[in-house]
Amino acid sequence: MICVSVIGKNIEELIREAKKAKLADIIELRIDYIKNLDIEKLIKMLKQIKKPIIITNRKRPYGKFEGREKERISILKRLIKFVDYVDIEVDSVKKFGFKNKLIVSYHNFKGTYNLLTIYNKLKNYEIIKIATYANSINDNIKIFNLIKKAKAEGKKIIALCMGEKGEISRILNLRYGSYLTYASLSKGKEVAPGQLTIKDMIELYRVKEVNDKTKIYGLIGNPVSKSKGYIIHNKLFKKFKLNCIYLNFLVDNLKSFITNFKPIFSGLSITMPFKQSILKYIDGVDEKAKRIGAINTIVKKEGKLIGYNTDYYGALIPIKKLKIKDEKAVVVGAGGVAKAIIEALTDEGVRVVIMNRTETKAKMLAKEFNCAYKKITELGKELKDASLLVNATPVGMAPNINETIVEKRFLHQNLVVFDVVYNPVKTRLLREAEQKGCKLVTGLEMFVYQAAKQFQLWCGKYPKPKLIKSIIKDVN
Ligand code: NAP
Repeated sequence: MICVSVIGKNIEELIREAKKAKLADIIELRIDYIKNLDIEKLIKMLKQIKKPIIITNRKRPYGKFEGREKERISILKRLIKFVDYVDIEVDSVKKFGFKNKLIVSYHNFKGTYNLLTIYNKLKNYEIIKIATYANSINDNIKIFNLIKKAKAEGKKIIALCMGEKGEISRILNLRYGSYLTYASLSKGKEVAPGQLTIKDMIELYRVKEVNDKTKIYGLIGNPVSKSKGYIIHNKLFKKFKLNCIYLNFLVDNLKSFITNFKPIFSGLSITMPFKQSILKYIDGVDEKAKRIGAINTIVKKEGKLIGYNTDYYGALIPIKKLKIKDEKAVVVGAGGVAKAIIEALTDEGVRVVIMNRTETKAKMLAKEFNCAYKKITELGKELKDASLLVNATPVGMAPNINETIVEKRFLHQNLVVFDVVYNPVKTRLLREAEQKGCKLVTGLEMFVYQAAKQFQLWCGKYPKPKLIKSIIKDVN
């Protein structure tokens, strides 16, 4: 079951919000947000809600109820016969007196500690709820293990981790046997840290279809919240009718993440800052990724983790279409993406000149890939006889959308301009190149091809780039 938690400043608002939660299986009414609650009026209006109801009257500091404890308990006692469940905190359950229709809850907003002790204290109640704060992605594993234990002992348990690092527990807890999970009505209406919207839970993550056969994929990085990969891959899984899910893993400690999560995931996307450091925790690397020295994709094959660099393939496809064998390309940048692009260009027989803000790095790369390097101050001069300019730096990326790597006067109509930045899609560099009559390759194009390749590596199916583009367009 998915429970939508709703709040309201007054009874009318609370009931209105509850009626909006059409996708919910059960509604949690948080009455603690209402000042001077008219209980009899609430009882009358509860009839308007046609779904099972949990009533919660959370005290400070976790909730908003400001009155005395005796008053708080007496409100719940009056309401219990008109609802399906009362959520009562473990410290107050004895005072409450009732034995049935209870969700006995424990919250810790600081961390995930002593779960077994807490569980043993709660386990004889009808339904128990344990919600703790995730300081580390690994805290989710503790919660999953607890749910498994409770399930094996025949107990009804609701367990989850709060906060951004705990988001995955709200999506996966049903898979392990949690009695329900919580969602918000919509963005901005979260009543606990890390809550996702009911629409995303059902339509994007397909939480109700997740079972023990569901293959788990996801992005590891820090931060991960800006990435749109979870939208693309979850929509592709749905489109291809695959029992797979893609999650965001906000990771601090790479080693412990791999140790704890290796049995759970089937594949990963890797983003900053782990594209190179991950290499020491995997079992094999494909030839291209080895040369580039960084990976952005992991596939688990027969228990072994194999690394790939799909940025290479993302760049290779548009480069192939340009047909610029033996011609000259100027690549600005000497980071991970520059390496993938230089590898693709040299594979296509293009003559590469590398330039970088830090010249020593350009020199090193030139040696590594057997190509030329020049001082960045010579960019204008080098472009004169070049067929391709690649921006492989973040210059021009939002919020710095007025920045560019080269003055417009150096661009000419025989030049193709390829910008890896995809936020915005039309960077200042690309806008000015277009005005000069240059052909363009956008960072979005590269992103789409690399995502398609990643999906193919995991699922054996190559999604049409057009489909990925339309998903991205919907997101924007
Ligand atoms: P990286 O490894 O950190 O390398 C960044 C490169 O950009 C370095 O060479 C750096 O020069 C240079 N640079 C950074 N800021 C600069 C500035 N203000 N002026 C001049 N040069 C600057 O990063 P990366 O992984 O290669 O990523 C680079 C960009 O590619 C990012 O914006 C990322 O979003 C984008 N990207 C696009 C795709 C796609 O599919 N389109 C995929 C992955 C990444 P120094 O050596 O002097 O520091």
